Amino acid sequence: MEPPVPDRIEIDSVNKQYQGGVQALHDISLKVGAGRFLVLLGPSGSGKSTLLRCLGGIERPTAGTISIDGSVVASERSYVPPEQRDLAMVFQDFALWPHMTVAENVAFALRRRRTSKSEALSHARAMLERVGLHIHTARYPHELSGGEQQRVALARALVAKPGLMLFDEPLSSLDANLRERLRVEIGTLVREQGATAVYITHDQGEAFALGDEIGVLQSGRLIQHGTPEEIYRTPATPFVARFTGVAGTLQGYVQGPGPAGPGPVTVVVPSTDPDRSLELAGNAMSELRPGEPVRVMLRPTATRICRSGSRPARLRGRILDGAFHGRGYDYAVEIGEGVQLMGVFDRRRFDRGSVVDMFVHQGGTLVFPDDGEREAPSLAADAVVTAADPSALVWSGRLDHRNGHDAVVGAGELREEQ
Ligand code: ADP
Repeated sequence: MEPPVPDRIEIDSVNKQYQGGVQALHDISLKVGAGRFLVLLGPSGSGKSTLLRCLGGIERPTAGTISIDGSVVASERSYVPPEQRDLAMVFQDFALWPHMTVAENVAFALRRRRTSKSEALSHARAMLERVGLHIHTARYPHELSGGEQQRVALARALVAKPGLMLFDEPLSSLDANLRERLRVEIGTLVREQGATAVYITHDQGEAFALGDEIGVLQSGRLIQHGTPEEIYRTPATPFVARFTGVAGTLQGYVQGPGPAGPGPVTVVVPSTDPDRSLELAGNAMSELRPGEPVRVMLRPTATRICRSGSRPARLRGRILDGAFHGRGYDYAVEIGEGVQLMGVFDRRRFDRGSVVDMFVHQGGTLVFPDDGEREAPSLAADAVVTAADPSALVWSGRLDHRNGHDAVVGAGELREEQ
């Protein structure tokens, strides 16, 4: 068994109310082990920056306690200022000193610790080399690109080897290509130093790529805290599921006989035709009663286009749109009027309007009690393909080779071969 990791951060029942009455944090409790990389994920206004600023000492909680390395840094009675917390922050707007060169900016973090000027500059140059900026040490921040400025900010945060690093959406002002490269650098450098990191973002892709753990915030509350895999496979609420990627939502009810879940469950999804309904094997996220109305949220990874005629096909739809991204295509597929599945992957190219059959995998079929929040529109009757349907077993249709791709079946061109 691995030895337990000591907690570097302990947040206990933290509340924050701003002047003017906004309650930005509600009773947040959270522990982060030493050397772990925690990403706080949530939409704008969910309280991410407030929590980060409370950790950094820029804001003071209204109630609750924050401890770093076992020492209380904020409570109703005590407050330790940022410079005494052994941490470094990296901000979205880089926050470099405009009147200092790149090397001086980085060295400044060490000068505060009374390191001699020459030693500080030599450490700064070494760290700038590590982030690939050693040739720019004599430049001023305004002479650098946005990505280079953020690398300087990163080097400045890393050079003093703080135990804790806080990142406030550091990549959000950079373009996509650079964002990905810097994201990898941040993940690698922070782990190399063994620092504990708390990183905030509203981008789920970034959160999944970076975090050992993710904390999901909604309206100032911590809704779920777990590994990326736990959050993807067993989101605590429909909000968490939606925020971390859902291809589409269907409404249905639990098939009997007995109580089901959490775990495998069968759901019946009615269509616009009362005689045709879809039976889906899904994963209940909580205990459900037979007949209970449910909301079925499909992860993009749950759906996959299958060859016409293969079985058991489950859903049939019409391609609305496709986005090419190198490895293949992400399709938007219509399965009813106003009902779409987004991000349905296939390597093959299908034209708009093509009719396709899709597998639905149980693993990414998340079943929640229906919270009645919004009524999902109905599934089209002809989207339902059941094993009892002869067309499902021998669908072949007329293959359309116009684009040099097989299995492209034109809408209205399907026929049964019995
Ligand atoms: P996020 O980082 O997730 O976008 P914030 O922590 O910035 O969220 O904000 C949480 C809530 O607190 C929002 O309703 C925001 O308007 C409010 N808020 C943030 N900072 C202040 C402030 N200095 N004064 C008053 N309200 C604030």
